[in-house]
Amino acid sequence: GASNGSESRELFTVESPNVTYTDSEIRSKYTYRTTTVSRGANGKYVATPRETLYDFKVDRKVPKLGVMLVGWGGNNGSTVTAGIIANRRGLVWETREGRRAANYYGSVIMGSTMKLGTDSETLKDVNIPFHDVLPMVHPNDLVIGGWDISRLNLAAAMDRAAVLEPTLKAQVRKEMAEMMPLPSIYYPDFIAANQEDRADNLIPGSKASTEHVEQIRKDIRDFKANHNLDKVVVQWTANTERFADIVSGVNDTAENLLKAIADGHEEIAPSTVFAVASILEGAPFINGSPQNTFVPGAIQLAEQHGSFIGGDDFKSGQTKMKSALVDFLISAGIKLTSIASYNHLGNNDGKNLSSQKQFRSKEISKSNVVDDMVEANNVLYAPGEHPDHTVVIKYMPAVGDNKRALDEYYAEIFMGGHQTISIFNVCEDSLLASPLIIDLVLVTEMMTRIQWKAQSAGSEITKDFKSFHSVLSILSYMLKAPLTPPGTPVINALAKQRGALTNIFRACVGLEPESDMTLEHKLF
Ligand code: NAD
Repeated sequence: GASNGSESRELFTVESPNVTYTDSEIRSKYTYRTTTVSRGANGKYVATPRETLYDFKVDRKVPKLGVMLVGWGGNNGSTVTAGIIANRRGLVWETREGRRAANYYGSVIMGSTMKLGTDSETLKDVNIPFHDVLPMVHPNDLVIGGWDISRLNLAAAMDRAAVLEPTLKAQVRKEMAEMMPLPSIYYPDFIAANQEDRADNLIPGSKASTEHVEQIRKDIRDFKANHNLDKVVVQWTANTERFADIVSGVNDTAENLLKAIADGHEEIAPSTVFAVASILEGAPFINGSPQNTFVPGAIQLAEQHGSFIGGDDFKSGQTKMKSALVDFLISAGIKLTSIASYNHLGNNDGKNLSSQKQFRSKEISKSNVVDDMVEANNVLYAPGEHPDHTVVIKYMPAVGDNKRALDEYYAEIFMGGHQTISIFNVCEDSLLASPLIIDLVLVTEMMTRIQWKAQSAGSEITKDFKSFHSVLSILSYMLKAPLTPPGTPVINALAKQRGALTNIFRACVGLEPESDMTLEHKLF
């Protein structure tokens, strides 16, 4: 079972005076090394190494975890559900290309490895699955539920999505036919008008209300009780909404937001109502779509309640490539001067995005993804200078879920020359997004079991153990427009995002950050 034997599941232990294991916890003392830079009198930089000693404490008990998806009956919701059932049951199915077996490819937690260290005898790398670095929930053990404005059961929703092979669908159909999305809230102005015909599973009322918040809270509580769960994570994988205007007195503070909901203010989006309900219920809430669900009042509410939130917008296909490729180009000293990104897709997401206001949300989320990399290179770019960047999305029903992403990267190289890179990326959209949904749930749950204390943080010393900040920027690897704690920088570069995820996990078990120096192979 998921709830015991955490110790026996662990693949390794760390032997160090800084790391202790108890039945219930892993405790580590970890020295975090940074560099503070100031400007000396002569205008030159002065770089000073700094050390902070942190205590980390990891709860080893892997909980029984539920995940509730908003938009459960959509392409992502039905695909991730079928995928988890197939993995749990170890299904295999025939395709015209041969036999296929369930897997978790595309999940960084389930499908990738991390170097633990160097073998003491052979000096070769010892790599372990990412999933085994800390005691994490296994996706096969997730209990899945959720809401949808469309009444279809999950088997019918899976057919509508047209993503999976018939031979696979046949094996999960019976189980999925019994899964019924809970009725949801629908405020027509926030998603495209072309979605109206599927909205037949509704909680009454077409604008925000305290009753809506309370109904969603009750749904979360009931789900938790009915399935005997220790924790629930809620994730928005419903349609992209239009942006909400930030209005002072309405959604700018936690107090105003709660009042605006009670007053039925028109500028409160359904996704924000779900976020508020989850925050009040202490269930982490992740937004997988681009809209500004986390208005300032929602972020403040999460901070007040110590609830975890994360977002925005799954980073699955085109943008994931972009955040890897641009990172590489600019780090290679090549001056990227333009990016032209075209997409066409034929699924319901594409249909919704064919409406201007919803497209605009996606355009914003896709547009800022190279900013940090450009800004960091003051050799290639003058202050304020940017590559040209255009994003186009068209709805083309025939291609269904197989989104086409065409990208041209145009760069200036040595002595006025040019490099043009053209990418044609067929992104089987829901098959790329589903593992991200799983990673977001697993990492978020893990973060609820990590606490820290600073022993000598220069000016600030914390007495008691605390959680990480409510806004989980550690999720950035999986997200296009990462939400970060107010006033902190956004990192889009894929390698840095992975580094943060990897090294924070390592620190929790007292291991040094991954270093690629390999001096053991260079100095002997
Ligand atoms: P989809 O249209 O197939 O599914 C969305 C589901 O949400 C539908 O079943 C719809 O009925 C439901 N819904 C709409 N409003 C709702 C509400 N208020 N409450 C409950 N349910 C509601 O879309 P999808 O392909 O599954 O994508 C889901 C979201 O994820 C989209 O916003 C999309 O932009 C975003 N996203 C997807 C990817 C990807 O698939 N690769 C990547 C990034 C972001």
